[in-house]
Amino acid sequence: MGSVRFMHREPIIRPSMPRETPTDPASVAAMANVRAMLSFIGEDPDREGLRDTPKRVVHAMREHFVGYTMDAADELGRTFTEIDGYDQMVLLTGIDVHSHCEHHMVPFVGKAHVAYIPDGKVVGLSKLAKVVEIYSKRLQVQEKLTAQIANAIQTHLQPLGAAVVVQARHFCMCYRGVRQPHAWTTTSKLTGIFLEDPATRSEFLRLIEIGQQPASGW
Ligand SMILES: [Zn+2]
Repeated sequence: MGSVRFMHREPIIRPSMPRETPTDPASVAAMANVRAMLSFIGEDPDREGLRDTPKRVVHAMREHFVGYTMDAADELGRTFTEIDGYDQMVLLTGIDVHSHCEHHMVPFVGKAHVAYIPDGKVVGLSKLAKVVEIYSKRLQVQEKLTAQIANAIQTHLQPLGAAVVVQARHFCMCYRGVRQPHAWTTTSKLTGIFLEDPATRSEFLRLIEIGQQPASGW
């Protein structure tokens, strides 16, 4: 095998690389609050290992909550109509969900399965995953997250119906409170034909099961 040469014009950003300390007033205030939280839990914010923690937390927060800077309308606004009359289900299964519960600001993680039945227009498949990301990367409750994804697809694509199932484990339930580390929460939101037609709904649920099985024989 020949050697592979990697050419990077830009330096690779790795989490361990030091990043600049933000200077905008909102970030400065947030870093001061992180220091206060470190003291609150009994830590010394000035010890070596924690000195850069407020800065890292603020950077991490920007990633965790980047959804506030994005709009589903931008992702779902570009549609395609050359689909030769395709009018059956479009389904994307196993989309990663990384979100934070708005009650405790701790993660809940899992999968989303998103479907719609087009009424003359479709979107790029990656846009469905993007919509999940836009609403996940905010403070959430799982029920609202599920509804927001389905409502965005229904509003912007105007399909015959939309269906969303989210399955997640909530860290606030796993490691504190009732301590149920193995409990999964499942929520679903159906619109249009998925709500009205039991056969369409059953097909969606059956396809989700198939979609979740590991690929065999490939
Ligand atoms: Zn919670």
